[in-house]
Amino acid sequence: MLLFYIYIFIQLYLQEINSSGTDFDYKDTCKWAKEFPMCGEKFQSPINIKIPNLESLGELPPLKWNGYENAPTTMTLVNSGHSITLTGQWDDNNIPYITDGPLTDAYIFEQLHFHWGPNDSVGSEHKMNGNSFPLEMHMVHFKKEYETFSNAVKYSDGLTVVGLFFDISPMGSEALTAILGGVSAVSSSKDPFELDPFELSSFNVAIAAVQFATYAGSLTTPPCSQSVIWILPINTLNVSSKQMKKFRNIELNHGDTHNYRPTQPLNGRSIHIFTQWSKLYMCDVYRSTTET
Ligand SMILES: [Zn+2]
Repeated sequence: MLLFYIYIFIQLYLQEINSSGTDFDYKDTCKWAKEFPMCGEKFQSPINIKIPNLESLGELPPLKWNGYENAPTTMTLVNSGHSITLTGQWDDNNIPYITDGPLTDAYIFEQLHFHWGPNDSVGSEHKMNGNSFPLEMHMVHFKKEYETFSNAVKYSDGLTVVGLFFDISPMGSEALTAILGGVSAVSSSKDPFELDPFELSSFNVAIAAVQFATYAGSLTTPPCSQSVIWILPINTLNVSSKQMKKFRNIELNHGDTHNYRPTQPLNGRSIHIFTQWSKLYMCDVYRSTTET
């Protein structure tokens, strides 16, 4: 009899975890607000970014990517059921963080994850002039002053997420290859997989981007906290169709075949654009225009 009560208690406890946790699916994202009220608030993400209508912040000090060239001591990939999430462990002085650009403080790297769709024509959460991309990567950072991600999420300037668009190119991405090397291990398993550590600068964001859109928004998954300064490079990175197939093999919760939330109303928010110039970038432009 005692065992029976223990069994019932555990079942109730598990139900409680599920209902108070973040269990959701992508079949009808409008329903999120019923269970997670912040998803129904005014300043939600993602949004459609209309480039000709952006207000310019002019030329800002370039975003500084500090410590992104430091490989972590361990790197872990996990299937959360809503995406695959990459985390790393760095020695105290080596944790990557970004500063400058539109940011007033240091924002420390927490994790990165991806959003994709059932085919190459959709998948990104943000749109650019109404266009979708097959893949969007979110590099999530929290404000140093707030000490932890879970504390920072309570503040309107608590997080900054750099959202990177990937477009189809036969070459694909080397940094994605490093991640997708471990993806079969997590496709249908929730067990974490240890990747060979690599430095996050492999994504070449720091040198590849010159124009960024920025606006105040939210997490794009429940609880949809409105705590995110979004930074979105206007240019795209490369992903191959073969790499996209590997993303689509990942089993998501509830049989979801995509993990992007539709764009949300702006509700009067301004989207700003800022430009950063560097010699490094000028060389890069020169190379890419002469090679193609
Ligand atoms: Zn995301």
